[in-house]
Amino acid sequence: MSAPVFLRIAVPSPLRRSFDYLPPKTVNIDTLRPGQRVRIPFGRQEQIGVILAITPESNIAPRRLRHVKAILDETPVLPEELLGLLQWASDYYHQPIGEMLANALPVLLRKGQPAQAKAEVRWQLTESGHTSSVDTLKRAPKQAALFGQLHEAHPAALSALDFAGQHTNWRAPLRALVERGWVEEILLYGLSTPNETTEQPLQVNAEQQAAIEAVTAHTGVSCTDAGKGRKQGSGSFGCFLLDGVTGSGKTEVYLGIIAQVLQQGKQALILVPEISLTPQTVERFQRRFACPIAVLHSGLSDRERLDAWLSAGKDEAGIVIGTRSALFTPLARPGVIIIDEEHDTSFKQQDGVRYHARDLAILRAQRLQIPIVLGSATPSLESLLNVEQGRYRALKLSARATGAALPPIQTIDLRSQPLKEGLSKTLIDTLHRHLARGEQALLFLNRRGYAPTLCCHDCGWLADCPRCDARLTFHAGKQRLRCHHCGTEQGLMPSCPDCGSTALRALGQGTERIEEALAELFPEVGIVRIDRDSTRRKGAMQAMLDSIHRGEKQLLVGTQMLAKGHHFPDVTLVAILDADQGLFGADFRASERMAQLIIQVAGRAGREDKPGQVLIQTYHPEHPLLRSLLTEGYTAFAEQALRERSEAELPPYTAMAMLRAEATNRDSPQRFLRIAYELAHKLGIEQVELLGPLPSPMERRAGRFRAQLLLQAPQRGPLQQLLRALLPKLDELAEGRKVRWSIDVDPTDTL
Ligand code: ADP
Ligand code: ZN
Ligand code: ZN
Repeated sequence: MSAPVFLRIAVPSPLRRSFDYLPPKTVNIDTLRPGQRVRIPFGRQEQIGVILAITPESNIAPRRLRHVKAILDETPVLPEELLGLLQWASDYYHQPIGEMLANALPVLLRKGQPAQAKAEVRWQLTESGHTSSVDTLKRAPKQAALFGQLHEAHPAALSALDFAGQHTNWRAPLRALVERGWVEEILLYGLSTPNETTEQPLQVNAEQQAAIEAVTAHTGVSCTDAGKGRKQGSGSFGCFLLDGVTGSGKTEVYLGIIAQVLQQGKQALILVPEISLTPQTVERFQRRFACPIAVLHSGLSDRERLDAWLSAGKDEAGIVIGTRSALFTPLARPGVIIIDEEHDTSFKQQDGVRYHARDLAILRAQRLQIPIVLGSATPSLESLLNVEQGRYRALKLSARATGAALPPIQTIDLRSQPLKEGLSKTLIDTLHRHLARGEQALLFLNRRGYAPTLCCHDCGWLADCPRCDARLTFHAGKQRLRCHHCGTEQGLMPSCPDCGSTALRALGQGTERIEEALAELFPEVGIVRIDRDSTRRKGAMQAMLDSIHRGEKQLLVGTQMLAKGHHFPDVTLVAILDADQGLFGADFRASERMAQLIIQVAGRAGREDKPGQVLIQTYHPEHPLLRSLLTEGYTAFAEQALRERSEAELPPYTAMAMLRAEATNRDSPQRFLRIAYELAHKLGIEQVELLGPLPSPMERRAGRFRAQLLLQAPQRGPLQQLLRALLPKLDELAEGRKVRWSIDVDPTDTL
């Protein structure tokens, strides 16, 4: 009798553990591998799990264990490397392994669908087909017709639809052409069709060249040299911070690195903040490279996502571009990882499974022994400190690639100015000058809607959200009040609910109101507003960007959707309508965020031949952080901000975790967190400081009361030690079942 074998399985469940099962009775044990999916009985239901390990031991007696019902994959859907990364992440972020894995898998795999791409078949001429003449097919008119159509389309491949449109009964003659060796069948897996006419690379400048060389020195030798199929050990890990001012040609550096990686027969994985906002970035990759590109974004159907995901693992896609979760795409021949706009907060997943894609990407690169590039004009303080401490290497691009100067930034002191709907006289005058020259201007305000508050002029009533400690935003277009925190919505009331007065006033400005004010001030000028409301419809964003590029719109109003990565050659004036939101934020990262936003928005001005100008409206022009940012630049600002973090003993100088709890009553979250505090305190790990529990800065949101306990330590070690001991105890608590609670390691948001 052979020794018993147990399968350790990750099951999507909030329980912070794995589960042991017996293998199916009929399966050959030798075919089992970690990373394969299984169908298992779980409680009274069935679940799809993933094998973590095949082990000879279990803490549970075999007769009490259940059998796996079916093994779903012949080969692992998660390669060893990714499985290891996800297990590490589950440990470090203290997220349940089953949920961590489920989060990484495409929905269809999570649901137990086969790991097979639904390929679309196409046909194209082979080399010998291309050189053969249609005349030889005189006696087979159907074949001749199909052949002629393929010749016309060559080198493009045609689909069943293309044939069906022009012929009946075309399959048999097409098969005959395939048998002659003149036509070949190719399979496409939801990938972008490879481009035929690829664009030539630009002549890179010395700094760009140095950056490309520094990174490609780590990509190693070509895959074909090393022998396909063998493990590619030739690359080496290196983490590079590509610190380049806005418009310095960071993308060109990425393209240069990728070109070499592709030439070596390897793949590039690129993470970007948000694809729908900057379709141009993806287009630039598609224009430059002939290889298939897998683009993973939120607009894909489940089927398309699975196909793209599989294509990367099977070596069909040369380039994988995606947002945060694309980090977990299997790669057949990884060559380099690139994180564009590495400072962007969207790389941190805030709910569900909490993890930081940038930080995990660095670990993945390390495990794969490949280089990773973090690019930004406004690097995070975390990354800058890592450079200072020698862990990352900085690559600088100090000037704009087009030779354009960085725009001068001036502040407008709002205390000394008459305002029209939040627009100062200085700004309006400047707008007139730029518009008269036929140039474009971009006005930035990070507040959508018409006005952030509605108020009764007679009694002072304010429109509050019934479910949050927040005000309802007035949306004039739809004549509705909406909460931007919980989504609560109601129609505009005709009169004040408290006193009945009809004197309801919109207080403050949102993008809608600015658009309205601009239309009044500049009736002849085309205006476009870009925010979450105006771009909801599919394709709307692209249509608006096109109208800007065609020059139909001269005035651009928008939220941070307009700040990221866009290249508008004719924008010469950028105005930040309200810089003060960021100066006094409750989160300790508020000023870092504000500085990044200001520099990114400012970076949209004067990117080509026409010089740019940036105006910042503020009531606090003397604020020291604003001053250091504007007079000395982002690097000096970051140095000062790092000094302040160091003195205040805040990240990145300390390690932080946040325990959050929420419930429909006010007491339960605080009671739970007080018990957590006591339990943590009793563990006696002195290096860890416990702050709280306190109500969250916005205590009530979506009808739930929220509280938080902050845990902080000079190093990660003691903090991890405490969490490892504390969380299992919290899992056991009866009070824990009365609240929704979560742990957030390295929180990017402490509100
Ligand atoms: P970033 O990503 O750093 O903001 P981009 O990569 O978008 O900058 O480049 C800004 C502009 O500079 C683009 O229009 C790009 O085509 C151009 N550019 C980049 N590198 C060069 C170069 N070496 N020579 C000329 N133009 C360049
Ligand atoms: Zn009133
Ligand atoms: Zn609300």
